[in-house]
Amino acid sequence: MTKIWETASPRETWQLGYEMGQRASAGQIYCLDGDLGVGKTVFAQGFAAGLGIAEPVNSPTFTILQQYMDGRLPLYHFDVYRIGDAEEMEEIGYEDCFYGEGVCLIEWSRQVAGILPETAVRVWIEKDMEKGFDYRRISVETE
Ligand code: ADP
Ligand code: MG
Repeated sequence: MTKIWETASPRETWQLGYEMGQRASAGQIYCLDGDLGVGKTVFAQGFAAGLGIAEPVNSPTFTILQQYMDGRLPLYHFDVYRIGDAEEMEEIGYEDCFYGEGVCLIEWSRQVAGILPETAVRVWIEKDMEKGFDYRRISVETE
């Protein structure tokens, strides 16, 4: 099933993430895709807040993985933009995150498409300049 949302500000994207974070359950994986600067991290920040995480959340581009343990569920926030292959993911120990008791958010998940379970939730964010600079179309696809 695919649901489509339209947001007109970072705050609205944050809010959508927040509501999904509130509803998230243990073991879920959320894939976040879309061009650079489209709002994946804004969504992730809302999502983390929705899980009750108080720590500031930023794009973990240089560390690939950040873990937040102070919310309702552990959050594993990946940014795999710089990942070359699945082997690097293994070095990070992604399996413990994917198949553990927490929730995973994976920015640029397409980089590691081969290791994503089919049950993952796909969040795809797009701009449409005809609709304004701050417009975003957010598709959420679940099995
Ligand atoms: P990404 O992680 O996809 O590279 P970021 O979340 O870091 O992108 O940045 C998104 C940028 O777009 C921010 O500067 C944010 O303020 C801006 N922005 C403008 N409109 C929106 C919107 N509707 N939703 C999300 N971000 C928006
Ligand atoms: Mg980001």
